[in-house]
Amino acid sequence: MSALTDIETRVSAALKDASRPRESVKLLAVSKVQPRERVAAVLEQGHRIFGENRVQEAKTRWEPFREQYTDIDLHLIGPLQTNKVKAALDLFDAVHTVDRDRLARKLADEIQARGVAPKLLVQVNVGEEAQKAGIDPAKADAFIAACRGEYDLPIIGVMAIPPFDKPPEPYFETLADIAHRNGVEEISMGMSADFETAIAYGATMIRVGSALFGARDPSAVI
Ligand SMILES: *Cc1c(COP(=O)(O)O)cnc(C)c1O
Repeated sequence: MSALTDIETRVSAALKDASRPRESVKLLAVSKVQPRERVAAVLEQGHRIFGENRVQEAKTRWEPFREQYTDIDLHLIGPLQTNKVKAALDLFDAVHTVDRDRLARKLADEIQARGVAPKLLVQVNVGEEAQKAGIDPAKADAFIAACRGEYDLPIIGVMAIPPFDKPPEPYFETLADIAHRNGVEEISMGMSADFETAIAYGATMIRVGSALFGARDPSAVI
């Protein structure tokens, strides 16, 4: 059985346990830092939704694949610098990491100039960790309101990366609460170690890297 089939089987089982329909979760294959052949193999198996965390790396990798496959759905799940907004909008179908006013403003200007918007999610720093990106949970409602009102951005969801060294359940709950309170549909949470738990807490997008592609070798040349 391929790793992809194995993950899909586990996703289906977790959804069944939660009495949720299969189509209520999207599996993002997180391909960052993975060798090209591993990504090609997952594409050949028919998978089309992928996550990357760096704009330049994603561009190098995905422009050639996009010539081969027309229906790739590419999501940015890493921090976005304002000077990379144009490049990001050229490449990505969704951005999960909207987390500050300057970025929202820059996205709004660029989206208005183009007349098309990617799917946008607000990243919440659920663990209130100094080293992590994302808006503070206490400021999330106001920020989402500003994105929608002041910047006219079509926010469809929220995203979080809970602390690595703690049980994720309370953080998943916090993110799901923020989503429900603000009436957004998509909840991007759950990674290789905890995607089944995330599904139990209402995740609609799970981001799975190493469990699908194998361990990442950061020194690898893409
Ligand atoms: C790398 C990464 C993932 C995938 O992590 P795994 O533990 O390998 O599944 C998910 N989300 C984000 C934001 C990441 O940067």
